[in-house]
Formats: sequence, structure tokens, C-alpha cells
Amino acid sequence: MTLTTCADTVSGPLPRTPLDLLVGGNWQPTTDRFTVEDPATLSPIARVADAHEDDAQAAVAAAHDAFGPWADRSPRERAEVLRRAHELMVAEAETGALLIARENGKAWRDALGEVVYAAEFFRWFAEEAVRVQGDFRTAPGGDKTIIVDHRPIGVAYLITPWNFPAAMATRKIAPALAAGCTCILKPAAETPLTALWIGDLLQRAGLPAGVVNVLPTTRPGPVSDAILADPRVATLSFTGSTPVGKSLMASTADRALRVSMELGGNAPFLVLEDADVDQAVEIALVAKMRNGGSACTAANRLYVHASLADEFGRRLTAAFARLRVGPGADPATELGSMVSTREQRKIHDLLELAEAEGARVARTQAAPAGGAFVAPYVVHDVHHGDTLTSTEIFGPVAPLIPFDHVDEAVRMANDTPFGLISYVVSADQGQGIRIARRLESGMVAVNRGTLSDPAAPFGGMKESGIGREGGFAGIHEFLESQYIAADL
Ligand code: NAD
Repeated sequence: MTLTTCADTVSGPLPRTPLDLLVGGNWQPTTDRFTVEDPATLSPIARVADAHEDDAQAAVAAAHDAFGPWADRSPRERAEVLRRAHELMVAEAETGALLIARENGKAWRDALGEVVYAAEFFRWFAEEAVRVQGDFRTAPGGDKTIIVDHRPIGVAYLITPWNFPAAMATRKIAPALAAGCTCILKPAAETPLTALWIGDLLQRAGLPAGVVNVLPTTRPGPVSDAILADPRVATLSFTGSTPVGKSLMASTADRALRVSMELGGNAPFLVLEDADVDQAVEIALVAKMRNGGSACTAANRLYVHASLADEFGRRLTAAFARLRVGPGADPATELGSMVSTREQRKIHDLLELAEAEGARVARTQAAPAGGAFVAPYVVHDVHHGDTLTSTEIFGPVAPLIPFDHVDEAVRMANDTPFGLISYVVSADQGQGIRIARRLESGMVAVNRGTLSDPAAPFGGMKESGIGREGGFAGIHEFLESQYIAADL
């Protein structure tokens, strides 16, 4: 197996982690390899095996062979592997955080927080594995007994994005394994190291060969097509952008394949008239800047009551200006770099467009030179309907839009094809919840800057997704029910 070594890295040691494909319990090198960069320095940090279609077929075969024996294991045995994976991940949290910080660029504290959050999916689904409930009852007409059982669906194909390389993987792997499914994980090409570390960790936790296979690739289209066309694959669980999710739904329609989709967001952040401005700024800082703004949950458009707008804008600007911007792997960093110069360019292009539309773009401090850094920005004079309010920004940019009446704020918040998450800040918790219930999003955070929890259902309405991950619903994405009618 090819491992990272200190010699592989340019600026500081990288933890030892496999760099080959994980197929059928073996680490397989490939002739093609691709380079992973540290976006803070734009230097190469590793060369990773690049999967092709034949590797995809081998992974499907391995997952298919492993499925029967894994599904036959008792729920308790499957739970024990997940429990050990949780323990290992917590014990190795700093290793994972360093891999994430180096390949993704996010700040150390976000990277460490992500690993702890990611590990919790193993714990939660270890607990869920032994609690799947069926149904046994007499039909209303009294003519039969209704028996409903839940069975693992089979081989699951899991596609994850670069912005949470650990948590998006465990949020899928853990319920799949708990349900008795086997899987193939295809991480984003920007962040394969974290996925390979998780694959290795699961093997060390005692997972049988072939139950989890990991395929980094720079050819996601052809590799995914080869996997999804294979009748041995039973479900697709995708997290990423809405356009890619839609195209995968179109390409799987022929097979009527079951899909779960965790897609893009465009989160509104509502500061109501009675809000405390300091508290609102504190919450906005977390909702906007956690993960450097590269989160599907990131507050994307900040609607602030007109009576508070100036004060809120001033204090948010001051808070942004105080953030320590730097390389993710530096523990003092509060805002890391973008994942790539491509993402950096996207943000700068959006800011240019906003200026052309008449917005006042305020850079709150200078960004460090030399990497894919973007300074934190507050954007004023934005109108609902402008580009910044209709595009998922995915970076440290906060557009402010004042409103006069709460009904207008709710209307603007809902005026989007997306519906992942919304935020409400109000001094009156009851009012916050009443407004939350008028918002068209799968999740609403009231007076909080974060809400993700493995024990809660994560997912979106409208074009933000299909299905839920985590909570009691998560395991059912990998189970299908069977109804048996009997005369008892
Ligand atoms: P992306 O859609 O470009 O990529 C996501 C994954 O899809 C990557 O693994 C990529 O390699 C793969 N991919 C790309 N083209 C493909 C193809 N033709 N066939 C198969 N796979 C393909 O998204 P991204 O830029 O990596 O991530 C950012 C997006 O993800 C944002 O829109 C964000 O909101 C969304 N996201 C959503 C959630 C959620 O839970 N709803 C969580 C995190 C990120």
C-alpha cells in the first residue's frame, strides 16, 4: 500500500494515510495518479490513485460479494464495528483534522469540530442498528395479519463533496452499515485523503473486506456511470450541488434507481425587529463563517430589520475584520482558505458581478497572499433578486438586505427554488418558532448559528434534496420495507 510520508509533503508533515484505492479489503495502486494540493500554499501534498471504470466494476463486485454475509451479521455485531469506529475516530481526531485542514484549507477548529461531528454518526448509527422496528397487526377488516419488515437495500453508491470530507462520508457510511448494506464511497477529487483515512480506520475497527470500498477519481462522470449502470447497485446517496444531483437523477431514471439527494442551499438569515444586535451578530458570525462559508448550511443572504440594519452591518464588519485569516493547519486560524483557486475565483467573480449590479462591496481586511484565500466581505445595498441573493455563495461574503415588515422577510426568504436551512433571530423564542413554521426549508435554526446533529434529520425541501440523513430517518435511506400478508 502506498502511504503518505513526510517526504511527500512540501510544508510540514502530513499524517501517514493510504493513498491507493480500497477495493475488497485491499489497497490497490493504479498507474494513473493525481495530485492533491494544500490550498493554503498551492503546493502538492500527495499523489493519490485515480480510479477508472474497471476499478469501479471491481468495487461493485467486491461490495456485492460482501453484501450477503454483512447483512446476515446480527445487528449487534454490525453495531459493535460502528462503535469501535467511533472510538478510533475520536482517538485519532487530530490526525483527521490535520488531513482535512491540509487538503481542504478550512480552519483547524472547524476541521477538528468536523471530525468529532463525523465520529458521532458512527456512534448514533451503532445505537440505531439495533432499534429498527417492524410492524405486526391485524388489518382493519380483520381478514389478515399485516407484517412489515425492513431489509437492507443492497450495495449503496455514496458520492460526497469536498466541503465536509469526513462528516459527509460518515453520515452515509454509518447508516448504510447499520442497515446491513455494503458501499462504494467516491470522495471529491479535492479531498480524497480524509476518505482514505476513514476507509483505513473502518478496516482497523474490524469491518470485513469489501463492505466499504473507496474510489478517489478525477473522472467522476464515467466512473459513476459504470457503477450506476450495474444492476448489482441498489441505491445512490449523493451530497453535492443541485445541478450534478439533477443530472444523476436523470441518468439513473432508466434503472428507476432509489436515490437520496443532499443538494445545494441558499439559506436566508432573518434578524427580526426585536432582536438583540450583539446576539444577532454573534449568531451570524457562526452561521456565515463556520467552514469559511463553504457550507450548504451557510447563511447566504442576511435580511435585517431596517431599524437595526446599520448597527448590525457595522458590528458584523468589525467582527469580520477581527477574524484571523490564515492556513487551516495553523491552530490560531479562524478563517482558512478556499479549497482551490477555482473556488476562490468564483467568489471574486460573484463580488465583481455584485458591484456591477450596484452593490457596495466592503472588504473587511486583506487576505494573505500565496494561497486560495478570500478576505471576509460585507456587501451593502443589495436588493432581493440580485445575484448574491439567488446564488449559493459558498465563501466568506455576507450580503445585507434590509426589510420593513416581517411578512416581507418571510416572502423573500421563501422566494428561492432551494429550501435547505433558514435562520431566525428574535428576542421572542415563540415568535422565532412561529416564523420558522412559515419558512420553506427542511431545517430552521432559531437563535442559533448551527443546528447539525447526528440525532436530527438533516435535509432539504424543494430543490435542496430528497430524503433525510441522520436522526431516526437516516437508516431508512438504506432499508426497504416488505409487507407480508398472512392469515394467522
Ligand atoms: P459538486 O456537485 O460539484 O460535487 C459533489 C460530488 O459530485 C463530488 O464528489 C464530485 O466529484 C461529484 N461529481 C461531479 N460531477 C459528477 C458527475 N458527473 N457524476 C458523478 N459525480 C460527480 O459539489 P461540490 O462543489 O463538491 O460541493 C458543493 C455543493 O454541495 C454545494 O452546492 C453545497 O450546498 C452542496 N452540499 C450539500 C450538502 C447537504 O447536505 N445538502 C452538504 C454539503 C454540500
